[in-house]
Amino acid sequence: MPYSTLRQRHGSLSSPRAVDRARVLDTLVNNLEGMAYRCRHDCHWTMVFVSQGCLALTGYAPDELRGNAVISWEEVTHPDDRARVRAAVQEAVDAGQRFAVQYRITARGGQTRRVVERGVAVRDERGERVIEGFIEDVTQRQATLEALEHAELRYRHIFEHASEGIFQTTREGQYLAANPALARIYGYATPQELMADLSDIEHRLYVQAGRREVFHRLMKAQGQVLNFESEVFRRDGTRIWISENAHIVRGSQGEFLCYEGTVQDITERRRYQAQLERQANHDLLTGLPNRVLLGDRIAQGIARAQRLGYFLALVFIDLDNFKYINDSLGHAAGDELLKVIATRLTGCLRSSDTVARLGGDEFVLLVNDHYRMGSVISLLERVLQDIGRPIVLGGREFHVGASLGVAMYPGDGDDAQQLLKHADVAMYAAKDRGRNNFQFFTRELNRQADERLSLEAALRDALEQGGLEVHYQPKVDHRRRIVGVEALARWTHPELGPVAPDRFIAIAEETGLILPLTTTVLRNAFAAARRWNQGREVPLRMAVNLSAQLFLNDGIVAHVAGLLREAELPPAQVELEITESVFLGDSERTVALLSDFKALGVTLAMDDFGTGYSSLSYLRRFPLDTIKLDRMLVTGIECEEDVAMIARAAVSLGKSLRKTVVAEGVENQAQFDFLRFQGCDEFQGYLLSRPVPDAQLTRLLQESGGVVAAAAMA
Ligand code: C2E
Ligand code: MG
Ligand code: MG
Repeated sequence: MPYSTLRQRHGSLSSPRAVDRARVLDTLVNNLEGMAYRCRHDCHWTMVFVSQGCLALTGYAPDELRGNAVISWEEVTHPDDRARVRAAVQEAVDAGQRFAVQYRITARGGQTRRVVERGVAVRDERGERVIEGFIEDVTQRQATLEALEHAELRYRHIFEHASEGIFQTTREGQYLAANPALARIYGYATPQELMADLSDIEHRLYVQAGRREVFHRLMKAQGQVLNFESEVFRRDGTRIWISENAHIVRGSQGEFLCYEGTVQDITERRRYQAQLERQANHDLLTGLPNRVLLGDRIAQGIARAQRLGYFLALVFIDLDNFKYINDSLGHAAGDELLKVIATRLTGCLRSSDTVARLGGDEFVLLVNDHYRMGSVISLLERVLQDIGRPIVLGGREFHVGASLGVAMYPGDGDDAQQLLKHADVAMYAAKDRGRNNFQFFTRELNRQADERLSLEAALRDALEQGGLEVHYQPKVDHRRRIVGVEALARWTHPELGPVAPDRFIAIAEETGLILPLTTTVLRNAFAAARRWNQGREVPLRMAVNLSAQLFLNDGIVAHVAGLLREAELPPAQVELEITESVFLGDSERTVALLSDFKALGVTLAMDDFGTGYSSLSYLRRFPLDTIKLDRMLVTGIECEEDVAMIARAAVSLGKSLRKTVVAEGVENQAQFDFLRFQGCDEFQGYLLSRPVPDAQLTRLLQESGGVVAAAAMA
């Protein structure tokens, strides 16, 4: 999902809603299955921070454990295991290493549970040694293993020689047993190899995300699954189709022991079925979906759009001079042309969209999952451009134009027939308008499209002619000393006046202007930082926002490095702010790019933390130095208890992960005081200063000696 759509959906400019906050808190703290903690290295293991997960694990609420209020961790630990745990932790502390130790605890109510604790000793803010780690319940896993060890495998012979794969797994997706046939189906030499390698069925085996969920659900409802067909990865990454039959194995007390079942390779059958289906649903010439399949896809698209609140665009395309080519060069050339166009159209769309051919030279695009008109308009422009590229037929070069008519769901109809009819009407309007353009069915949408196109053109001009400005907003430390600034792009349209950054950044992202725009901001910001930092004892950190879009570009790190060299600015003085949408894409690539940035020497901040898919796993996996709490987590902090609670959790989470925590959108003294008390490191917001032009910030740095007085600037 593009960064801009995230912003729009989560509406960081709108007032925060209690529901959103509750959700953020949930994801931040409660999502962990198990208990994250920080404790003192003392004889009680006195807890300083305990996550919500401890309630499920121990029966005690975080408050009851924190500061040994009701019970200490030493007391929770089983008496017979205490000495061993302490020795294991001590040994790791002495060696400066991480530890992992398995032991028993006594939960409230007296039950014994088996846990694994993993942790490490670190120094806290005051230099005191503390232990941080994570404790999870492994009681079930252990019990299953033991029960199975005792059970005898009576049917060993059948098991070894069956032609079907046979397995036993835990609920979590680890193999307890596998036979040679299963190993063969999945591409392993032996069952041992399979069991050692394939440790996470949910993610490693099934191609379709969520497939294992369905398996669990069926099991829960019926105690078995029959002919459960899924596509799976073999060891070498190739895909096959399997059919599973499985059931739950229970112990003598009715307790869950494992799943057990068989697997059959049904790839051949599926292939044959798929071929038959293809023939019924596809156009023979181009291989595109035909009218029948398009109807299905539209119905699916509508259901999806309804559920998620997206909209749907149906685009009717008619080629402008197909008839001429077909008549003058013959059918073979006409067919060739249609095939080329089909390929180009497919290339313009994402895999979730559909290109269909209705017959003749009529194509239809079904565009799913957009929240913004802007991105649909960009797509239409791309389609026109692509169709318009020269085509060589029979040794001659041709230019083909197209007229596009667009109907939107909801608004222009709520079933396939009506949408197609209205898209067709709009297509004729496009032909009337002189061909090679697109028209929406609704007048209002046409107006929006015109406005968007003219904004885009003006932005392009502004970028070429130096019409883009950069303002700077200070970030201060707890004593209000300016320690950094954030560069923010500003653009004034010659007629419309100032355009909000959220708006023009979104346009830039959709039209490929984001790289030149960012380059301009980086150049200005680097030059300013160099000036301001000349002779400064502690240099200011210059923060620049990098769109998620730019991470699709492999050269981005080298590009920024080049600009740093050009400006002769030490990379350590630069911070790049990125949003969580960066992490939604290919995460291995993202890790690689972020590591390259780190290697370059810049620092990395996660912007707008708390508005998106705030997830602990991002914070753990990616090399981020700073998190910036979005102003949604700040607004209302001084008067609403639930906001305060979430902010507190977010700050302590940031601190426990040893990140610099910055609060955005600090607008009054009460917010500042609260956040400072919670341990926030830096503050940014109108209380301290609005974003101001270069010259004004220069004055501010000189006059005040870099200390921002509230009254003067608010
Ligand atoms: P952001 O990076 O989260 O920037 C902070 C935004 O909060 C700025 O809005 C700033 O003016 C505003 N702000 C600061 N203090 C306060 C406060 O106390 N109260 C309130 N209500 N707002 C405050 P702005 O300048 O409108 O920028 C909006 C967004 O546009 C930025 O959010 C950033 O994501 C994006 N943006 C701006 N410049 C650039 C750029 O050069 N590149 C990219 N990729 N994005 C940019
Ligand atoms: Mg920012
Ligand atoms: Mg922000």
